Amino acid sequence: MLQFKLEDEEGRQAALERYDISEPRIEPFERITSLVKAVLGVPMCAVTFIDGDRQRIHTRQGFDVAETPRSASFCQHTIASTGPLVVPDARRDLRFSDNPFVTEGTLSSYLGVPLTTPDGYNLGALCAMDTVARQFDPAEIELLARFAALVVEELELRTIARYDALTGAVTRRTFVEESKRVIDRFARYARPGALLLFDIDHFKSINDTFGHPAGDDVLRRVAQVAEETLRPSDMLGRIGGEEFGILLPETERADARACAERLRQAIASLHMPELSGRGISASFGLSCLSGFVGSPEGWIAEADAALYMAKRSGRNRCVDAGALDEAPGPVAQELSWEI
Ligand code: GH3
Ligand code: MG
Ligand code: MG
Repeated sequence: MLQFKLEDEEGRQAALERYDISEPRIEPFERITSLVKAVLGVPMCAVTFIDGDRQRIHTRQGFDVAETPRSASFCQHTIASTGPLVVPDARRDLRFSDNPFVTEGTLSSYLGVPLTTPDGYNLGALCAMDTVARQFDPAEIELLARFAALVVEELELRTIARYDALTGAVTRRTFVEESKRVIDRFARYARPGALLLFDIDHFKSINDTFGHPAGDDVLRRVAQVAEETLRPSDMLGRIGGEEFGILLPETERADARACAERLRQAIASLHMPELSGRGISASFGLSCLSGFVGSPEGWIAEADAALYMAKRSGRNRCVDAGALDEAPGPVAQELSWEI
C-alpha cells in the first residue's frame, strides 16, 4: 500500500532532484499529453513539476507558458492531495477565481492528477485544461490517472538508465553524453575540461580472496569517496566493472591533477574491516581537452592510454596523457607526478 508523504516538502524536493527532468523534450511525455488532449477533448494538457517556489511546465500542449510562480499554480493544490483535483469552473472556485490565467480567460476548467513516486512523493501533476467551464466524468478522471502513472513510470525508467544501481555513479552512456557536452563547450567557447579514468588495482584478487559481495562493497565505498572529493559540477561515471570516469568541466590541468592525486590518496587510505587489513588502491589516467579531442570515445581512449601507463609503471599512481605526448616511450615513472 502506497504511503503518501504530503507533509515532507524537503523530501519531496529531494525526490524531484533524483529524477532527470533537465532534458527539455521528453518524447513519451509529448505523446502522453497529445493523447490526453485527444481522448479527453481538451485544448490544453501539461506535465508540470513543483520545483521550490516555481511551477515548471515541462511538457505542454495547446499553450506556451514554461514557468509560473508556485503560488499561481493549480498544480500546488493537486500535489497537496492523494487524488485528482477537479475544477469544473475556476471562476466560481474561491481558490482560483483571482488566478491570472482565469481572470484573463485562458483557463476555466482543470483536471489534475498528482505524479506520485513509488516512495509517496507528489512531484507535480498531469493536467487537462479547458478555456470553458466543463465537467470531467469518472471515466475521464480514471483515464488521466492511468496516464499520470505512465509519466511516473517513464521517470523511473530514465533514472534506471542514468544511474548505476550498485554505486550510484552515472552509467557509461550518460557519462559519454555529458562528455560530448563538455567537448562542444570547448569547441564553441574554448572552455577547459578534463577527464579522469581510474581503475581499482588488483580488484580481481579482492573478489577471489574475500568474495564478490566484499568486492561490491569496495566498489560502493570507492564511489562514495570519489563523490565526496568532487565538486557538484563534476560527474562520476561507472565506465565498466571496476573502472570509473570523472568529468571535470571548467577545470585546467593543474586542478585536474590535484583532484586525481587527492582521490588517489583518499582511496589508498581507505580501511575496510572486511578486507582484514588489506589496502585498496587505484590507478589514474588524465586527459585534458585540446583541439585533438574530437569525440567522447577519443577522449576516453586518451585517458585510458594514460591509465594503462599508470598500471604498467607500478599502479597506485596518476599519469597525465599530456605528459605522454611530451615524453614518448615507456618512461612512465617520470610521467606520474608528485603533489
Ligand atoms: P588491474 O590492477 O590490472 O586493474 O587488475 P584487476 O584485477 O583489477 O583487473 P581485472 O580486469 O583482471 O579484474 C577486474 C575484476 O572486476 C573482474 C571482474 O569479475 C570484477 N568485477 C567487475 N564488475 C564487478 C562487480 O560489479 N562486482 C564485483 N564484485 N566484481 C566485479
Ligand atoms: Mg582493475
Ligand atoms: Mg579494469
